[in-house]
Amino acid sequence: MKSQNGKVMVVGGGIAGLTAAWELSRQNVSVELVEKSCFLGGHSIGFTCKATEKCQQCGACSVEEMLANVVNEPLINVHLRTEVKDLQKSDGFRATLAKSDTGPGPDEIIKGFSKNNDPLWVAGSNVSKLPSGAVKIDEMGSDTELEVDAVIVATGFAPFDPTLKGTYGYGEWKNVITGLELEQILRENRKILRPSDGKPPEKIAFIQCVGSRDKRLGNLWCSQVCCAYAMRMASVIKHDNPDTDITMFYIDIQNTGKEFPVFYQNIKSWLKFVRAIPVDIYPLENDRLKLMQLAEGQDEPSMEEFDMVVLAVGITPGPDTGKMAELFNLAVNEDGFLDSNSASANGIFVAGTAAGPGSIIDTMAGAGKTAYEAMKFLGVTK
Ligand SMILES: Cc1cc2nc3c(=O)[nH]c(=O)nc-3n(C[C@H](O)[C@H](O)[C@H](O)COP(=O)(O)OP(=O)(O)OC[C@H]3O[C@@H](n4cnc5c(N)ncnc54)[C@H](O)[C@@H]3O)c2cc1C
Ligand code: SF4
Ligand code: SF4
Repeated sequence: MKSQNGKVMVVGGGIAGLTAAWELSRQNVSVELVEKSCFLGGHSIGFTCKATEKCQQCGACSVEEMLANVVNEPLINVHLRTEVKDLQKSDGFRATLAKSDTGPGPDEIIKGFSKNNDPLWVAGSNVSKLPSGAVKIDEMGSDTELEVDAVIVATGFAPFDPTLKGTYGYGEWKNVITGLELEQILRENRKILRPSDGKPPEKIAFIQCVGSRDKRLGNLWCSQVCCAYAMRMASVIKHDNPDTDITMFYIDIQNTGKEFPVFYQNIKSWLKFVRAIPVDIYPLENDRLKLMQLAEGQDEPSMEEFDMVVLAVGITPGPDTGKMAELFNLAVNEDGFLDSNSASANGIFVAGTAAGPGSIIDTMAGAGKTAYEAMKFLGVTK
């Protein structure tokens, strides 16, 4: 369906793409929402509520709410498991869509994170017994052409790959995990358990800035979200198990908004902050870990033992950034993210973490503005 106010193709169905699509539909603009994976929601639909005795403003419930809005909006047409293969300038744009090669293996079944994911289950081609409401992978994806008046690229980010920090033993020692894996453990168990033995860890280290602010890796940017997410997680752990001993190794603390100074002040009463970036992690008996670090003001490195180490991995440019730059004629900035202003005059816009790090709330605010810019381009608003 194309409304009188025109049609926009939104590429990427994370919180940036969902918000942009929803804001456009509010002004009666039709949307073709193209998502490469089998499910809408991007990284943040997998996040769980971090409320302790009060809301910690992690933003996860806003993603669920926005997803529900989008799937129930008739002006938004969703293409799951689909990619844009070509874009030609016509009166507006002619886009060629094709099935992506993502999804479960032939014998696998995968499940979306949200009850609002439709379908909720996707099954590989050899699976014969399907859960109710499941769809076979071969039935998903659009091979079609679209005429649209503008494009919003919202293809998101990739979490930093911690195997690139070889001395931390990620992938080798079971109890060295990432912030995303900690999310997963909390979602599945409603509490934090050690991967090696399923027991609550008594002593935990968080290592901040993993893959961010790192000259050696050439990743000079601050990822904006990892200080806040690590502190929220630490609060959940402490709330569930007040005897847990938690240390945060950091270079700098990112102030994430007006509530943050009070939150930080409170958390300092029980969370140990050590200004140092650990250099090495060694395995010990019982899957414990020894962490070697050189703290600020110390001449000699010191060692400390932990039950579990959480690497606060940051936000890096998404895997399709180069492809998107080429397809949509967008520039890439010095950090490797898409330049949000490079093609807006031609009707191609960038939203969300495809253009650089940001939290859910920042991404929603930014995507709302991008939708507004696209509507100005269409002449829907001034
Ligand atoms: C470990 C970690 C924890 C975090 N915790 C929090 C938190 O507690 N609170 C908070 O506010 N923020 C948090 N964040 C940040 C949050 O994840 C981001 O703000 C949010 O996910 C950004 O949304 P996005 O839509 O820009 O990108 P994404 O979530 O990456 O979504 C991008 C979407 O685009 C799709 N896509 C990619 N390429 C293509 C393509 N070629 N064609 C079509 N579709 C494509 C992807 O499949 C995906 O669905 C965290 C980040 C990390 C790394
Ligand atoms: S913002 Fe986060 S902590 Fe607060 S209610 Fe929503 S999901 Fe829970
Ligand atoms: S948000 Fe905090 S942990 Fe993340 S890169 Fe910035 S300073 Fe480091």
